[in-house]
Amino acid sequence: MSTISDEEAIATAAARLRSGGLVAFPTETVYGLGADATNADAVLSIYETKGRPRFNPLIAHVADLDMAEKLAVFSPLARRLAEKFWPGPLSIVLPLRPGHGLSDVATAGLDTVALRMPDHLIALALIRATGRPLSAPSANPSGKLSPTTAEQVTRGFAGKVPVLDGGPCQAGVESTIVAVDGETIIQLRAGALARRDIEQAFGLKVALAEQGAKISAPGMLLSHYAPNAHMRLNATPQPGDAFLAFGDAPDFAGETRNLSPAADLHEAARNLFSMLHELDGTGAKMIAVAPIPDEGLGEAINDRLQRAAAPRG
Ligand code: AMP
Ligand code: MG
Repeated sequence: MSTISDEEAIATAAARLRSGGLVAFPTETVYGLGADATNADAVLSIYETKGRPRFNPLIAHVADLDMAEKLAVFSPLARRLAEKFWPGPLSIVLPLRPGHGLSDVATAGLDTVALRMPDHLIALALIRATGRPLSAPSANPSGKLSPTTAEQVTRGFAGKVPVLDGGPCQAGVESTIVAVDGETIIQLRAGALARRDIEQAFGLKVALAEQGAKISAPGMLLSHYAPNAHMRLNATPQPGDAFLAFGDAPDFAGETRNLSPAADLHEAARNLFSMLHELDGTGAKMIAVAPIPDEGLGEAINDRLQRAAAPRG
């Protein structure tokens, strides 16, 4: 598909997003590969298109603070950050609001979400016209450079994804990500908004967190959704286990969920987080997980399972 750019193109792109399609669009940081963040299948096609081998939580892009407040709960300090730096290259990690409607593929099963209002007229018009929050990681195949022009996006995906052309991006680097813990701001990722600018605006020190480290506040996990149960991968269930099956499953009397009886990896990915939560909710001490082919979305599924099964400190 060709590069598109006018008002009508935004309406067409919004319709495509609402029906579960992907559209790449410009922001002030880099071009994003956008999908309706409330639609699991749409978000999964981001992974399929990028060839991304792991399920990271994705930043949800909003058009204004109202839209953001429907998705997440803002503490007073978080709201001041949004009021000061939005629209702009600052993503704020916040606790999800009940009834938020975001897909658990977009949140990677966490109870928090990173929100951002991009400072770009096309991005804002697109989100508004779609009427949904948009997941939008950088619009490049996994492992390649983030694109800052529409041409780079078109080339990267061999013309398979429609691109709204907004010319070259201003910043060219990703957004800064922060979390808020009481009166403390913690930087989770350095990006286009300098830490010093936040510190000067608020007259406080911004703490640093290693990517993947835990944030001190209870329930605020950076990126590891881990069930309470222990997990055994590539396993056959034993009595007392809960069983996460895939495809043709052996007979098992205990609590069982099948990610995809038809052995479809897309269906399995869609069910992954909710079924893990359900099995964990049974109170089982061990979740046995059937082997899952390590190809296509199976790679991201296995990565997530391995991290969920990893020993915890
Ligand atoms: P992007 O690929 O630009 O959408 O950025 C996604 C990154 O944002 C993830 O890899 C995480 O580092 C971070 N992120 C998104 N959501 C969260 C969250 N709820 N908690 C912590 N970090 C998050
Ligand atoms: Mg990227």
